[in-house]
Amino acid sequence: MAVPFRRVSKMKKRMRRSHLALSVPGMITCPNCGELTLAHRVCGNCGFYKGKQVVASKADSSEE
Ligand SMILES: [Zn+2]
Repeated sequence: MAVPFRRVSKMKKRMRRSHLALSVPGMITCPNCGELTLAHRVCGNCGFYKGKQVVASKADSSEE
């Protein structure tokens, strides 16, 4: 098995790991109900997307 010739310095290790950070997904507040949702997705709270009811919502399923 190959063994590293030199110990990797703190700087080299940190430089390598500078690209490993996780990114936070793009979140928006729903224009219909104001709930925080993922962008470009149907709102999980009210089922609205692009100003229209796309999916039956859990909140007002008794309506209609
Ligand atoms: Zn909503």
